Amino acid sequence: MRRPIIYIGIVGLILLTACSFIANADESSDSTNSAAPLSYEVTMESDIVEFDEYHITIHYPQTPNNQINQTIIDYVNQRKAAFKKESYQSIQKHGKTKSHELHIDFEVLHQGSSFFVVRFEESMDVGLPTLLHAQTIMNFDKKNGKRIEPDQLFKEDRNYVDQLAELTKEELMKETGAEVFHSSELQEALKSSYLENIALTTKGIEVYLNQSSEKIPDKIVLGQRSINDLLKEEFASALKAEGESRREKKTSIEDPPSSKSEKETVVKSQSDVKKVAITFDDGPHPKVTPEILQVLDEYKAKATFFMIGKRVNYFPEVAQRVAEKGHEIGNHTWDHSRLTRLTPEEVDEQISKTQEIIEEVTGVQPEVVRLPFGEQPPISQKNLQVIPSDVSGENWQGKEAVELAQDMINEAKDGDVILLHDLQGSTVEVLELVLDALSRQGYQFVTVSEL
Ligand code: ZN
Repeated sequence: MRRPIIYIGIVGLILLTACSFIANADESSDSTNSAAPLSYEVTMESDIVEFDEYHITIHYPQTPNNQINQTIIDYVNQRKAAFKKESYQSIQKHGKTKSHELHIDFEVLHQGSSFFVVRFEESMDVGLPTLLHAQTIMNFDKKNGKRIEPDQLFKEDRNYVDQLAELTKEELMKETGAEVFHSSELQEALKSSYLENIALTTKGIEVYLNQSSEKIPDKIVLGQRSINDLLKEEFASALKAEGESRREKKTSIEDPPSSKSEKETVVKSQSDVKKVAITFDDGPHPKVTPEILQVLDEYKAKATFFMIGKRVNYFPEVAQRVAEKGHEIGNHTWDHSRLTRLTPEEVDEQISKTQEIIEEVTGVQPEVVRLPFGEQPPISQKNLQVIPSDVSGENWQGKEAVELAQDMINEAKDGDVILLHDLQGSTVEVLELVLDALSRQGYQFVTVSEL
């Protein structure tokens, strides 16, 4: 069921991090005296690129610490560059196949007063028979914003590599039993450089394994007691303190709005009024989406926002505002994965999780869905209508706002669904031009469900 997976090395990444580490080494000593907040306000950025040749979706976190942010941005840029190179080489070698894809998502594994820990999961399709998978875990020291490497964490005289390997094996033996433990898959997973993938958490240290089979757990936990001896004093006590003072800041939404504005009843249509539905994909965005709302208000236009579930979870108040203004919210999957690569169960989860978060935040369950990259795989949620787009402006990502707007205005006709993207700041200008021109031509702007 699970496709065979190849884990690719990340030597380049390590080199790069090492470089930025050296480059930054001299500039952060002044930040040590300011007390770090217990928990960062973490926001989420999404970098989504759609060309014929390739698709990129990268989600990554940003924090109030600039040094951490820069390290993460360096990593994102490095992965993008590596992907483009692989993709180009593959096309040179094998000719052009289906469009290639890079998908990176993240989870914040831990944050407390001392550490901020994030894990990235990468998958890359460059036309090879198997997807390339990798993961990168970054443990940041909040005092100075620097990455903590394993050899800084552990006492030099304790031969920590062997000791950790020993502890990891013991734990695995307990968890999987002898049969799995001696399987070739597990031996394979243990051979690779899994000790790079360790995360500091309140439980102790989590060791992420390079998974090649479902029998093998994603990770094992080495409890504080078992690793205390190996850790340098400063880290052992910091980790202990985090465990004790932990006050988990929940990112989920505590109180969904009790009342939500009823969707405005549409001014009843005289049948001769021309209508279009303007739609926005990939949001919500904390800055661009509110600007879009303002422009829509000026033209008394209603629109539909196809939102990424994970972004709704990060920016619930933006999604709430969209709903309160009487616009429609649609489902654009949880993390903008290319659905044709997923199993039916995974597709189902992408859609359901997004339905749930949107309903939790806005009180309304979406009735429409748009699938990323214009794909149309079958989905099991029969109550959801899949909405393609009619007008998207060819190669929109390379175009100036005025040029793109002009293309859309020329192309639009009665009953069309127009596609824009609310991650791009330039969308606000495009929207203004489109609304201005089409309202002069007598168009009304409605949600897709009203169309
Ligand atoms: Zn999209």
